[in-house]
Amino acid sequence: MDKEKKVKEELTGKVKQQLAEQAKKQQEAFLKQKDERSPVAKISEIFNGWKNVVFPNEEIERVAKVRAAICAQCEYNVKSRCQKCGCPLIAKTRSMQSDCPLKKW
Ligand code: SF4
Repeated sequence: MDKEKKVKEELTGKVKQQLAEQAKKQQEAFLKQKDERSPVAKISEIFNGWKNVVFPNEEIERVAKVRAAICAQCEYNVKSRCQKCGCPLIAKTRSMQSDCPLKKW
């Protein structure tokens, strides 16, 4: 009985380890994905964001505040620039055409 329990625990441990390794590989593959948007689309998104910086809108500011709070916790936020897409976060968070490349918002 003890031997059977031990074998079951070993198998469970191996399955858990394999699942953790698989999840880690999937996460790494996701993080390596390139930003597929065209340069024109990126410029349009950021232009839209800067427009909303210059001409603030109450609803957009509310959305931007939520997004900025998420970006503030993100490891890709370096000096208020997203290292995943290269965009300045002041404009990116205010562009309603933009989304987080990691789907955090
Ligand atoms: S846009 Fe996404 S990836 Fe970029 S800093 Fe914000 S949360 Fe991080």
